Amino acid sequence: MFDYVIVGAGVVGLSTAYHIRRLSPDSKVLVVDRAHAPGSGDSGRSAAAFRAFFTNNVNLLLSNSSIEFYKSVEASGYDLGLRFVGYLFLADKRLYSELRDGLREAERLGLEFKVYEPGVIEDSLNVRVRVEDLEESQLVGVSDIVEGIHALKAGVMDAGKLVEYYYKAGLSTGISYAFDTEVEDLIVEPRRPLGIEGEPFPWQDLRVSGVRVRGGREIRASRKVVLATGAWTWRITAKAGVESFTRPKKRQVFSIKALKEPLRRILYARGFNSYNVAPMIILPRKAYIRPTPEEGSFWTGVSDDLGRPFELEDWDPRPEPEFYVKGVLPVISLYFPPFQEHYPHAMWAGYYDYSFDGLPVVYEPYESDLVISCGTSGSGIMKADAIGRITASLTLGLEEAELYTGETIKVKLLGLKERVTGAEKLVI
Ligand SMILES: Cc1cc2nc3c(=O)[nH]c(=O)nc-3n(C[C@H](O)[C@H](O)[C@H](O)COP(=O)(O)OP(=O)(O)OC[C@H]3O[C@@H](n4cnc5c(N)ncnc54)[C@H](O)[C@@H]3O)c2cc1C
Repeated sequence: MFDYVIVGAGVVGLSTAYHIRRLSPDSKVLVVDRAHAPGSGDSGRSAAAFRAFFTNNVNLLLSNSSIEFYKSVEASGYDLGLRFVGYLFLADKRLYSELRDGLREAERLGLEFKVYEPGVIEDSLNVRVRVEDLEESQLVGVSDIVEGIHALKAGVMDAGKLVEYYYKAGLSTGISYAFDTEVEDLIVEPRRPLGIEGEPFPWQDLRVSGVRVRGGREIRASRKVVLATGAWTWRITAKAGVESFTRPKKRQVFSIKALKEPLRRILYARGFNSYNVAPMIILPRKAYIRPTPEEGSFWTGVSDDLGRPFELEDWDPRPEPEFYVKGVLPVISLYFPPFQEHYPHAMWAGYYDYSFDGLPVVYEPYESDLVISCGTSGSGIMKADAIGRITASLTLGLEEAELYTGETIKVKLLGLKERVTGAEKLVI
């Protein structure tokens, strides 16, 4: 019997477990995962970029405070691979209008960003800024770059190292882990069983008292069960009549080697940061190019929304090479023609766990002793520490969570009834 059973050993589950033990050092905490090792879900498939740049003020608070926490972890001597290369939005008219709220929020928090004229980025990054005369640009529906907006508190990190950090910190504080343990069902039982055949009845006070795992074994939680199962959450909650308010959608990353000129010159672009590498580049249509200098490569991708179904294909979804050729390349090669000559040397796929408004969903349905923490909507690595603190506080029955930066936040802001207003516009 454990006090708290957390399902899911991705960044959200690991961070939640860690913060539960930090706030309640005597509690018995177990993390279970169907996979053989932590971080085997989407946390291990992420592009692992981070930015303190969102249009929603709560989202911004979550990422900003998590980034500060990650900096403190590095300052204590633990490498998370944080590189503050910045996020460079190469904005055409449409992307620029989507960025406006983000710029306002960044200014409000005093976060630094630089604005570049198109001519400046053209020279330093070797990017084609004028594309409107090209036939392809009309096809793709993009226009000239009107401005480069460089968010400075942003960059790339190593998600595997973040997983390892929370996992090892959890081990050292006495958290238990059970891998190769797939949860099939939530156990729903009356708080006060009567021992009458046919229980539970609708008038009984019910709770989620544990989980049933593959093979029929039951694991009980005396206090709460936490579902931090990312894209798979709805599959578990639906069977118990509970809504996660999130749905999974496939997302893919394609890695392009930049060993030779002229791609190499773009990868090691000078003047944007102290590492002299390109920033994380966001293009119109929200295609992205992520520098991965330790591999001498770029990771690229784009989010296809309308037409891409909400579905789970498999635990290990397959990347689609055609999607790169017909979906990603037409946008990135319009602005960076040298990409035309390269084919991905590696590719992988995972899922974004989309909420309806681009903010995480953290709530306890029906006072059931079940806490759901999901809906990271493509930015769970950069917000994992704050989400873990909020989920841990809700799990422990606290009304507020204290973030690493000292701000307190009402845990109900990520629930449903008293949820923060304003959908996030910068889900990339
Ligand atoms: C292609 C791609 C690119 C991304 N890029 C970024 C980025 O640049 N920056 C960023 O911040 N975020 C990014 N993300 C999003 C980020 O990876 C996620 O937000 C984050 O990993 C979510 O963490 P999680 O712990 O909620 O989910 P996961 O890491 O998926 O963890 C859920 C865990 O639950 C386990 N599980 C599920 N069902 C069961 C069950 N029935 N029984 C037992 N265990 C179960 C799974 O095995 C898994 O380990 C990206 C995601 C993808 C797919």
